[in-house]
Amino acid sequence: MIAKRLAVQSTALEILMRCGISKPPVDVESIVQKHFGIKLVQDEVLPDDISGVLDVDVKGRKTILVNSAHHKFRQRFCMAHELGHYLLHAQKMAYGFLDKESFFRSNPLKSKLSSKDIEANRFAAELLVPTPFLEKAIDELSEKDVFDTDKDVVKDLADKFNVSTMVVSLKFVNIGCSF
Ligand SMILES: [Zn+2]
Repeated sequence: MIAKRLAVQSTALEILMRCGISKPPVDVESIVQKHFGIKLVQDEVLPDDISGVLDVDVKGRKTILVNSAHHKFRQRFCMAHELGHYLLHAQKMAYGFLDKESFFRSNPLKSKLSSKDIEANRFAAELLVPTPFLEKAIDELSEKDVFDTDKDVVKDLADKFNVSTMVVSLKFVNIGCSF
């Protein structure tokens, strides 16, 4: 389980390295389209409770659809999540994944989710908030920032990485960091 988790994280870090991305915010749209040649459709016609879809047709062509009515940060997480399905679960299969918004609602690492969704979330969290980038960002925070209760460190980091505060909070838990 731990080995698998590390493999998921290193897959994400390897992609960033190959794409020459070394600082936040991570350009996930470019990774999906340019690096993997996956068609990206930001489509308003998706039902409201659908966050994203990974579609693999019989010829193996891949499309990621995201619900453009949802918040920008959620769309980014969704793209990364679907890319995770593609890389970890769907590469050799002619079908896809359909993700309801439930994986954003509660703690996305909780076990009510399928193991594939948990893995896709771990991948997405590492791709968008890579542990080395986060550690560097935390190092750069002055002590004043961290201990000044008026300043919301999690919110600042979330804005820096273009993700929701929930993703940053979960990464803190993951790397054993707490403010
Ligand atoms: Zn999923």
